[in-house]
Amino acid sequence: MKPANRTFTRAVNRFNILNTIRESGRISRVEIAAKTGQSRASVTNITAAMIREGIIREEPCRCKPSRGRKRIMLSLNPEAAFVVGVKISAFQVGFAVVNFVGDVMSSLVMPVRAAEREEEVVADLIEDGVRHCVADAKLRMEDISGCGIGVSGFVDSAAGKCLWTPLKNSESHIRSMVARRLGVDTYIENDANSVTVASQWFGLGKGIDNFLVVTVEHGVGMGIVVDGKLYRGAACIGAEFGHMVLVPNGEPCRCGKKGCVEAYACDGALLRRARRILSRRRLLKPDLDRLTIEDVTRMAREGDSGLRRIFREGGIILGQGIAGLIQIFNPERIIVTGDGVRAGDLLFAPMRRAVRKYLNKEQAAVTDIVIQEWNDFDWARGAAGFVLSELYKSPLDKSRPAR
Ligand SMILES: [Zn+2]
Repeated sequence: MKPANRTFTRAVNRFNILNTIRESGRISRVEIAAKTGQSRASVTNITAAMIREGIIREEPCRCKPSRGRKRIMLSLNPEAAFVVGVKISAFQVGFAVVNFVGDVMSSLVMPVRAAEREEEVVADLIEDGVRHCVADAKLRMEDISGCGIGVSGFVDSAAGKCLWTPLKNSESHIRSMVARRLGVDTYIENDANSVTVASQWFGLGKGIDNFLVVTVEHGVGMGIVVDGKLYRGAACIGAEFGHMVLVPNGEPCRCGKKGCVEAYACDGALLRRARRILSRRRLLKPDLDRLTIEDVTRMAREGDSGLRRIFREGGIILGQGIAGLIQIFNPERIIVTGDGVRAGDLLFAPMRRAVRKYLNKEQAAVTDIVIQEWNDFDWARGAAGFVLSELYKSPLDKSRPAR
């Protein structure tokens, strides 16, 4: 074997071992050899180097010792690397510092009118937020291996460019501006794609080759994993599930069309429809200008039948759309997440009923639909998870995003 080939083979073997340890959590060398098909000598060799580098660590097995000897298990060293994630929304910027296994070390949400401010100003604020969050995690900038930015809209991650975002300059150069200020490798990716990749490496998508993530919040977003890979489409503008029209001439959507999934199921749509219903009432009318989606959810939960109907209709449209996705992709799992999960059964019980109604039994039986809890910092955690996936990535994967 040529030396170059030998180096490459070792890199692939090393990736397979690291990946097996990540997927298993804790695993012995013997089990790694069995799972990867590598010899025990090779596993011993490669893991010894990874322990020296501080990427993995040894720990005694919690199980009963067999024949007097305690088995030694291997796991990832959470402190092997730290990365930071940034999520830019129209009205706020979220930050999270995470360790090598995706645990959040510190987080921060700053109210920033990103859609109205000049890009240089937004980049300055991001720099301040990142430095604050890193210090809060008791780390220095030199400890940070990379920064990931998640933003809604059309993002060409491989070229590091935004084709369209809600920022003031929609063809934003925010990635290079932030990279210059922080002096670390910086990546940019569509926010729903970041969350999807983070789920694949650290969350409910771990070990699953075909799954979808649907995010319900200010909008309805989506990420697609097919055969273990994130699917981006020909021009990186695919997976716009939220703007699929399901009701001809239906409710107006912020994209300019009518009857999109988002125009019924996202927070903004639910709030707009609630205001319309409440404005027609004579008695017990709340202050409509101050009404929030949390208020609407609470009132619906307390039994307001008009508001419950809005959630029900949103859930039915969402379910109708998800039934379509299941018929096309036949995924093993669909993870529904985002701030919109606060609605609980108001939205998701009708969604599940609609999925069953619009699918035949065989199709419905394959896909497990999971509603995942959501935290304020989960978008930023997703952007950080995307950077970690770049650190972990297989040497066989050539589609590296721009740094
Ligand atoms: Zn739309």
